[in-house]
Amino acid sequence: PAPVFTRALAFGDRIAIVDQHGHHTYRDLYYRSLHLSQEICRLRNCVDGDLQEERVSFLCSNDVSYVVAQWASWMSGGIAVPLYWKHPETQLEYFIRDSRSSVVVAGQEYVDLLSPVVKRLGVPLLPLTSAVYHGAAERLTEGQVQERDWRDRGAMIFYTSGTTGRPKGALSTHRNLAAVVTGLVHMWAWTKDDVILHVLPLHHVHGVVNKLLCPLWVGATCVMLPEFSAQQVWERFLSSETPRINVFMAVPTIYVKLLDYYDRHFTQPHVQDFVRAVCEEKIRLMVSGSAALPVPVLERWKSATGHILLERYGMTEIGMALSNPLTTARLPGSVGTPLPGVEVRIVSETLQKEGSSYAIHAEGGEKETKVTPGFEEKEGELLVRGPSVFREYWDKPEETRNAFTSDGWFKTGDTAVFKDGKYWIRGRTSVDIIKTGGYKVSALEVERHLLAHPSIMDVAVIGVPDMTWGQRVTAVVALQEGHSLSHRDLKEWARGVLAPYAVPSELLLVEEIPRNQMGKVNKKDLLKQLYRL
Ligand code: ATP
Ligand code: MG
Repeated sequence: PAPVFTRALAFGDRIAIVDQHGHHTYRDLYYRSLHLSQEICRLRNCVDGDLQEERVSFLCSNDVSYVVAQWASWMSGGIAVPLYWKHPETQLEYFIRDSRSSVVVAGQEYVDLLSPVVKRLGVPLLPLTSAVYHGAAERLTEGQVQERDWRDRGAMIFYTSGTTGRPKGALSTHRNLAAVVTGLVHMWAWTKDDVILHVLPLHHVHGVVNKLLCPLWVGATCVMLPEFSAQQVWERFLSSETPRINVFMAVPTIYVKLLDYYDRHFTQPHVQDFVRAVCEEKIRLMVSGSAALPVPVLERWKSATGHILLERYGMTEIGMALSNPLTTARLPGSVGTPLPGVEVRIVSETLQKEGSSYAIHAEGGEKETKVTPGFEEKEGELLVRGPSVFREYWDKPEETRNAFTSDGWFKTGDTAVFKDGKYWIRGRTSVDIIKTGGYKVSALEVERHLLAHPSIMDVAVIGVPDMTWGQRVTAVVALQEGHSLSHRDLKEWARGVLAPYAVPSELLLVEEIPRNQMGKVNKKDLLKQLYRL
């Protein structure tokens, strides 16, 4: 499990990154990173490669400079802390301070933004030179990174998405990252001939590990857009420009935006046929994750492109854990089975009371799932173990201890169920599992169904404290333009698709559902905003 840059020279002149600055080979990446790592080490007065897990924060656009800054942090022996250019200044400051970074690397376009921040914090700023964007590899520097035992060294601090509270820094080692990458490379059959279109933020596992490190691990090509644009994604899918895109990954809201664009612009049948034919013929894999994929979105996407989106489940702390299969049938709404090397369990209080420790135990790869008799289809908390699980919450020993069971399983905080040979995520135990009149309702399930309603554009289902029911199921809805919807009509419609206790007992109409950079809804905040709780 060595860092990805140790493989780069073997791919030499192959194109690693295509971005607004041009085409960049693996050798370019390697030597530009080595050059920058030497600058970092000079600034910190240390021998090359000996930064001893000092944190290196970096703020770069979605282009080659991001990769160079990340690799340089690693080559210098530091821990990479990626910042995101869409985050407000206060949040950038929080990440630099919280990680106690000893240097901040800034892409050329962010030097002005970061200067006052680093001044306040007393941290040195290292601006990128044009060599990072354009440097011809051989002229930059000589030699290679010394061989070391990288395995248990800290590699990255990713901050969680902040869906349930303040983002927590999750520290993963090189071993952890390599475990996720090799698991995905195997499961999704990555090869050096793949070309992925990258449109996600680069401060989060999805964009960094799944979409960037996987292709770079195998010598494939990553085409990076500066940011997501529905028009540009469709253009890239449909254009015969080389390298030609054959892999795509995104969060559910991006698929929704792509479908909106499709509905507005691809209205003629012959255009629709063309879109579908090109996607079917040229693209081999389309993945969704980071939040539950509503089945109606999956279905619309299938009719537009012919692709059944491959849904998978992961978390900042564990990388990827569960995935639908590449070649055999995918079950809409399910997140598949464990990746190679990953062990999962479902635990519940009932079981523990009865002296059994788990309902389900499965190991990734070709290993079998063990089901405790009588506990099929029982909901419980999903636990995960394996080399992909992170080392610690940065600077939070107590939170780290609380996140694991006494025998070393990571507690995801998500409720899941095993049925039909697959795992299904019911949502976060703390906010998505609504307890109403003695029933447990999965907010995600209700959302999935409500999204199929023709007037509903977006929805978040929340449990609102209620004197009679404990909690009541409340649907917060943004309507399609020009539509209206009464609570009575919604109830009548929902009775046809949901159990009676899951039918929303309240409907709140809003202009827009507030979602963060990863398309996630912070339901605690939403509840506070709507009810001042
Ligand atoms: P925070 O931990 O700061 O509250 P977060 O948990 O949203 O934020 P991430 O680590 O980005 O931060 O997200 C992981 C969570 O995303 C999982 O715990 C799970 O609730 C959700 N998730 C990821 N993939 C899926 C999926 N395919 N289906 C349902 N939920 C998913
Ligand atoms: Mg979380």
